[in-house]
Amino acid sequence: MFRQAKWKEPLILEYSSKGLTGLNLQQVEPRIVEKVGGLKIPKGMVREKPINLPDLPEVVVVRHYTRLSQMSYGVDNGPVPLGSCTMKYNPRLAWDIAFDNRITALHPLQDERTVQGLLQMLFELQKWLANITGMDVCSLHPAAGAHGELAGVLTIRRYHELKGNLGLKREIVIPDSAHGTNPASASMAGFVTITVATGEDGNVDFEALKSVVGDATAGLMITNPSTLGLFEERIVEIAELFHKHDALLYYDGANLNGMMGYARPGDMGFDIAHLNIHKTFSSPHGGGGPGAGVVCVKDRVVDEKRGVRLSDLIPGFIIVYDDKTGLYKLREPGPYSVGLIKAFFGNVIPLVWAYVYIASLGPQGLRKAAEHAVMATNYFAKLVEGVKGLEIPFGRGRFRKHEVVLSASKLAEDTGVTAMEVAKGLLDAGFYAPTVYFPLIVKEALQVEFTEAESVENIERYADRLREISKIAYENPEVAKSWPSNTSVGLVDYAKGDHPKTLSPTWRVYVKRMRGELS
Ligand SMILES: *Cc1c(COP(=O)(O)O)cnc(C)c1O
Repeated sequence: MFRQAKWKEPLILEYSSKGLTGLNLQQVEPRIVEKVGGLKIPKGMVREKPINLPDLPEVVVVRHYTRLSQMSYGVDNGPVPLGSCTMKYNPRLAWDIAFDNRITALHPLQDERTVQGLLQMLFELQKWLANITGMDVCSLHPAAGAHGELAGVLTIRRYHELKGNLGLKREIVIPDSAHGTNPASASMAGFVTITVATGEDGNVDFEALKSVVGDATAGLMITNPSTLGLFEERIVEIAELFHKHDALLYYDGANLNGMMGYARPGDMGFDIAHLNIHKTFSSPHGGGGPGAGVVCVKDRVVDEKRGVRLSDLIPGFIIVYDDKTGLYKLREPGPYSVGLIKAFFGNVIPLVWAYVYIASLGPQGLRKAAEHAVMATNYFAKLVEGVKGLEIPFGRGRFRKHEVVLSASKLAEDTGVTAMEVAKGLLDAGFYAPTVYFPLIVKEALQVEFTEAESVENIERYADRLREISKIAYENPEVAKSWPSNTSVGLVDYAKGDHPKTLSPTWRVYVKRMRGELS
């Protein structure tokens, strides 16, 4: 039986006791200062009052975090089938290379001639990603998927601005199955969002698209395969429809794992695409470190007279190779570019991670990864067919790509056991829960995505547990409602946890709260 480690662990700050230290910086500092030949800190920048940091010996810190890790669950413990999030196993080779101090010790302001190795890797990564997506130019600049979306919609905005049409082009069309970041990014870029429904067959309703597209349409943001795990069957027609109205097509690439090496957004008519480097290309995410949201474009002409192309518009530095000097260089954003939306030239560590992942798999390996991910998910969908109370809505009978969305709506109706409680039942048996209540168009949604890393046995065990949960829900719903009891943290009070009067986002807030200085 599964039982998670459970430590009565206080906050790290509560271990603090005056006088305890790990490393005495006061003693080390003079030596460091000597080594760098004297460090003159400008007067105004010297801290006058000591900052109130906790006093902790190293061993206490190490044990604290080790115990927390034992109470946690991640891809190194077992599958994390969080639909849409593509939580892959993170190969250790990439880890070793990305965290080599020849990379981590570099400074972004270092002379380009001293970072040629890194720039060459990033240059090649730009090329590979352009190839994988079928686009022409990629910018590694954005920090995450949502940030890549913002980069993309700002590029759409700039496109219409340069053509003198921004006053007219006010709307971005988005299917109702989209990730919430899509409408958020479009709104942040100043557009009005128009939502279009998904048909029973799982495709975006083509007639609805036809009825909303018009002179005011600036672009379409679409995820393919969709968050239902279904390939958009009329994507080429959709692209033609929008292009007829001089609207650009934006590809949300978070689901690229479902077709990597088999189909490319660039070949489907997309103009701009973002990639979630930390999903498709394996960098750890979800509390595991920074991601990267590379944005790629087709190099279509924007303004013939001025010689402006779409690649001149995207934000950030582009790494270029100078034939004359034989050096890799950063090309600054030019006068037509959106500019910079982040300091420096991207989150380098996840980018190196992606470089190693792609280099070690090669083109055939990438195809195989997509194949395995798709097979794993379809095998799972087959296994849960007929589990009482669970259904697969939209596109009945259609082959899924990398993910499948189950609905526990019938189960909830029959037994009162909700998708959230099904998820807790999985946790209780030592599995990780799927994404719940997303996409929003599926009632009581459980969105499951097995990546290429999962074995047949793991998938079967997961399906078996779902079958067992359904049985318990029908026979003994009170048991289902008491889950989880085998995890280090039991049932949490979501409303309380989310409440501003409970949350202490910083140490300062926490101290004030403890002293009763906050209401
Ligand atoms: C994860 C995801 C995003 C957002 O990406 P982040 O890297 O989390 O900002 C956007 N769209 C879809 C479909 C996603 O799954």
